Amino acid sequence: MEKPARNVTWHPYTITKEHRQKLNKQSSFVLWFTGLSASGKSTLSNALECKLYEMGFRTYLLDGDNVRQGLCKDLDFSEEGRRENIRRVAEVAKLFVDAGIIVITAFISPYKADREMARKLFGPGEFIEIYTKCPIHECEYRDPKGLYRKARSGKIKGFTGITDPYEEPESPDIIVETDKNTVEGSVEFVIDNLVKKFGSLQETL
Ligand code: ADP
Repeated sequence: MEKPARNVTWHPYTITKEHRQKLNKQSSFVLWFTGLSASGKSTLSNALECKLYEMGFRTYLLDGDNVRQGLCKDLDFSEEGRRENIRRVAEVAKLFVDAGIIVITAFISPYKADREMARKLFGPGEFIEIYTKCPIHECEYRDPKGLYRKARSGKIKGFTGITDPYEEPESPDIIVETDKNTVEGSVEFVIDNLVKKFGSLQETL
């Protein structure tokens, strides 16, 4: 799949990420949600984007299910398919960060190495890993899309947490325990962490 690019040189353009951040009056970075299916990635990223929008920030949300209907519709859920899915999403997120936008991604991203590959594409502090921590029995109980039921009955092969691994983040930037906190509480917790990290989140270039 990966052929090395030949005779391709990066062209340095005059208008940079810093110019665009200044125009947008904000920092830009990626909030990378990872966690089991039904742990709350989509719910929290949606609520977080609503909150950031209300606060006046420019954002974009990349969601696993949505991206797999377009950009990544040719990929399966094998280890290789999942890796390529994450690579493409991370590259797209990088373009948005370069455009001065706060990006929120909601992907299971079960493999530590793939999340590290994604992190390496970004500058220091630009990749913020948020682990939606939730015991699998609670995720299975929620089962909003009926996927655990299908996985248990063998209708879905290679399902994360059942027949495929989920490698827990060892030192995520933020952990939200979604079985112990409300959606609103978790969003507030993430925003508080961001304010600690970036000050007011307003760019001061
Ligand atoms: P994922 O994107 O991780 O697969 P979803 O957000 O699609 O997860 O599903 C999580 C489900 O859990 C939703 O039905 C949501 O309403 C429910 N839920 C219950 N409590 C919480 C909570 N505290 N945080 C996030 N989701 C919660």
